[in-house]
Amino acid sequence: MSRADFTFEDMKSINRTSLGDTVPLELFRTIRLIGMYQGLPMGGRGTTATIGRKIGENLPAASIEELFELFRSLKIGLPSIVKQDERTIRIAVEDCFCKGLPVQEEKMVCDLEGAIMEGALQRILNRPVTVREVKCNVNGDEHCEYEVRL
Ligand SMILES: [Zn+2]
Repeated sequence: MSRADFTFEDMKSINRTSLGDTVPLELFRTIRLIGMYQGLPMGGRGTTATIGRKIGENLPAASIEELFELFRSLKIGLPSIVKQDERTIRIAVEDCFCKGLPVQEEKMVCDLEGAIMEGALQRILNRPVTVREVKCNVNGDEHCEYEVRL
């Protein structure tokens, strides 16, 4: 990493006097769904994976619990492990940014969140990990859910 690179610590250095430290969820959705999902080739699949992994690698989480805590404090969603065996972990995310969007069956739009988990878990567990979105509110499911393969 070169000296000029931003770190996650830098992201918390906010000095915006009138508008404060938050942006509306509809702006985030617009960037994600209109900008990335609809604006990039193939739903932005490859780009989203690259962006998400990079973010995940840079999050200051040393354990799965710390990663889940960051997901809560950054308001990405409320994660919990719903199933686990020696090779897979199923993680449900309640209150994802996509909650409330019109249902469009066969559409799963929260691949960025999965890629963030992938990058973070790979670093935390120090082994190759793949994360796939298997449920999404937009698809009509009861929550967004990810399958982590170790
Ligand atoms: Zn979602």
